[in-house]
Amino acid sequence: MKKEPQTVDVKGTQLKCPVCTCNKFWTRKAQLNTSTASFFGFDWANRSATCFVCSECTHIYWFLG
Ligand SMILES: [Zn+2]
Repeated sequence: MKKEPQTVDVKGTQLKCPVCTCNKFWTRKAQLNTSTASFFGFDWANRSATCFVCSECTHIYWFLG
């Protein structure tokens, strides 16, 4: 687990928080439970999500897979 927030690139674009424009994020891995995955129609997914949490305002980006 890294101790410092990092800049994050997704498909070649650097993530920037839409709330506070910060570009440093904490990275977290999350397991989606089956009911959550089903609710969102993601049964086909591997039920693992990556979360990037803004280091300033804690706005969360979720990415599946
Ligand atoms: Zn933010």
